[in-house]
Amino acid sequence: MLFLGGMRGIMNDILNNELYEAFAQASEIVYIYVCDMKTDLSRWSENAVEYFNLPGEYIQNAGEMWMQYIHPDDRNIYLEDISGVFGGAKAQHNCKYRALNKYGNYVWVECRGSVIKGEDGAPAVFAGIMTRLDGQNKYDFLTGLMTIDEFYQRDFSVGSGAVMLMGIDDFRKVITSRGYEFGDNVLVVLAKLIMKECGDEMQVYRFGGDEFLIVKPNGTLEEMNGLFDRISGEADELRSPDGQRAHIEFSGGLSFYPSDGTTKEKLINRLENSLTYAKQYNRRHLEVFNQEIADHQKRAQLLNEDLKDSIRNGFRGFELYFQPLVQKEDQSIIGCESLLRWKGEHIKDSYPMEFIKVLEDHGDIQSVGQWVMEQAIEHQKKWQEKYPGFHVSFNVSYQQFMNEHFVDSLIAKARETGVEAGNMIVELTESNEVEEAESLARVFRRLREEGFTIALDDFGTAYASMQMLMNLPVNYIKIEHSFVKNLANPGHENDYIIIENLLSLCRMLGCGSVVEGVENELIESAVRKTEATYLQGYYYSRPVPEADFDKMLLKNRGI
Ligand code: C2E
Ligand code: CA
Repeated sequence: MLFLGGMRGIMNDILNNELYEAFAQASEIVYIYVCDMKTDLSRWSENAVEYFNLPGEYIQNAGEMWMQYIHPDDRNIYLEDISGVFGGAKAQHNCKYRALNKYGNYVWVECRGSVIKGEDGAPAVFAGIMTRLDGQNKYDFLTGLMTIDEFYQRDFSVGSGAVMLMGIDDFRKVITSRGYEFGDNVLVVLAKLIMKECGDEMQVYRFGGDEFLIVKPNGTLEEMNGLFDRISGEADELRSPDGQRAHIEFSGGLSFYPSDGTTKEKLINRLENSLTYAKQYNRRHLEVFNQEIADHQKRAQLLNEDLKDSIRNGFRGFELYFQPLVQKEDQSIIGCESLLRWKGEHIKDSYPMEFIKVLEDHGDIQSVGQWVMEQAIEHQKKWQEKYPGFHVSFNVSYQQFMNEHFVDSLIAKARETGVEAGNMIVELTESNEVEEAESLARVFRRLREEGFTIALDDFGTAYASMQMLMNLPVNYIKIEHSFVKNLANPGHENDYIIIENLLSLCRMLGCGSVVEGVENELIESAVRKTEATYLQGYYYSRPVPEADFDKMLLKNRGI
C-alpha cells in the first residue's frame, strides 16, 4: 500500500483501510473511488487504473481528468449530476454514461456515489462505486458488432484457427475531409459488408476506431488471404451518396492460434505489430506475423526508448549535418540544407529515414524539430555574418507546421537572433501527409509575411503534389532524386524531357527550383543545361558536420 504523507481524519481512515482493499478487489467489473473534497486528491481501485489506463491509483483533480474519459455526448449528463452533488443540491451521484477504456472503446458504466460529512459538518469525502454494464458492452453501439470486451471473454487455448485484424488506411484523412458523420456511416456500411462476407462460422469484432477483428476457427492462410481480398475489393467500390468514391482501403495483420503460450494479449500484440508493419511497408496487403516483423517492432521499440532517453538528456546524440546548395553556373555554395543525424546510447546505426519515422509516430518530432529549428537559426546567424546572403534550409514535417507553438517560436527565434528570415528556407517534407491544405496555406502565408522562404520537398513523389503546388504559396520546389538518377543512362532519354517540363512548370508558377540527387559528373553536366535555380547532391558533397562544412565554405569562397 502507498503511504500518503500528512493525510488525517476520515480520508486517512478510508484510504488506508483494509475494508477499502477488500471492496476494491471484490469484482472485475466494479470499481471504487474515494475523493478528499478538501484537497481534491482521490484514490481509485487498482482494477480501474488498469482497465481505464488511468495515470495512477492516486489522482489529483480527478474530476477534470475523468471528464476526458467520458464520451463527449454524455459529458453534460455527468456534469449536471456531479455538480448537483458537489454543490449540495443532491445527496447522491447516480448516472449512466460511456467511458473510454484502455482498448479505445467506450463502455457503459453506472456510477453511484455519496458525500460523507466530516466532524465539522462540512462535506469531506466523496466516495462511490462504478459498475461496468457489460450487458450493454457486448455490442458496439455504432456498428452492432461484438466489442473487444467480448473478444477477451474467448478461450484461445482450445481449438485452432486464424485471427485477422483489418485496419482502414488513413481513416483520419477520410474524417477530416468528409466529416465524422460520413466516417460513422462508412463504419456501419463496412461492418455489414464484413458480416456478410464472414457468414456464421466466423466472429467479427470492432476493435478500436477503424479496425475490425475476425476470428475464423480452423481458418487457413489461403482462406484468410481470399477473405481479405474480397472485403478490400468491396470496400474499394464504396461510394458516398453523391456517387463519389469513398477511398476506403485496408491493410491487415494475421496470426494463428494456438501457438506456444499464446495469451490473448500476445495474440493481439502480434496482430497489431503485423498491421502496423503492413501500414508502414506494405499497404493494402495482409501481413502474416513472422520473426522479421517481431524483430522490426522490437527495434522500433528500442529506438523509441533510446530516442526518448536522448531527448531527456538535452538532445544528447543529435547533430545537424550540412549539405551545400550550389549555384548552377559557377558551383559556388550559396547555402546549405541542415540534415539531422543521431547516435543513441544503444543504437548507433540508425538513418534519418528510420529514426525520424519513430519520432513522428510517437509525437517526439515536435521537441526534436524545435531543437533542429533553433540550431539551424543559430547556424544561419553565424554564417550570415561571415557570408552575407547565405541561405540555411531545414526540414519541417506537416505535423510541426500544424503546431501553432512551433510556428510562433520560429518567428520569435528569428526575430530575437536577428537572422535574415528571407535566407531561412523552411522545407515541407512528406507533403503526402497533408490533410488540411487550407490550414497549411494559412501557416505558409503567415511565414511569408514574416519574410521566410518556403520550399516544397521531394516534389513529384507525393501523390498530392500537383494539387498542393497550386494552393500553397511556396518559393522553391525541390525535385526528388529519382527524377535525375538515370538521367545520363542510355534508354532514359525521356527522363530529361520530364525534368525539363517539371522545371518549366515551376517557372510558370513563379517558383524557383532545386534539383536534388546530383550524384556524379554525368548528371551534373545534364542538369546544368536545364533551367534549375540551384543544385544539390553527392557530386558537390555529402552532408558533413559543421567543422567540415566550414572548411568547404572557406575553400569554395577562395578565402
Ligand atoms: P530530404 O529532405 O529529401 O533530404 C535529402 C536526402 O538526400 C538526405 O538524406 C541526403 O543525405 C540525401 N542526398 C543528398 N544528396 C544525394 C545524392 O546525390 N544522392 C542520393 N541518393 N541522396 C542524396 P538523409 O540525410 O538521410 O535524410 C533523409 C530524410 O530525412 C530527408 O530527406 C528528410 O525528409 C528527413 N530529415 C532529415 N533531417 C530532418 C529534420 O531535421 N527534420 C525532419 N522533419 N526531417 C528530416
Ligand atoms: Ca529536405
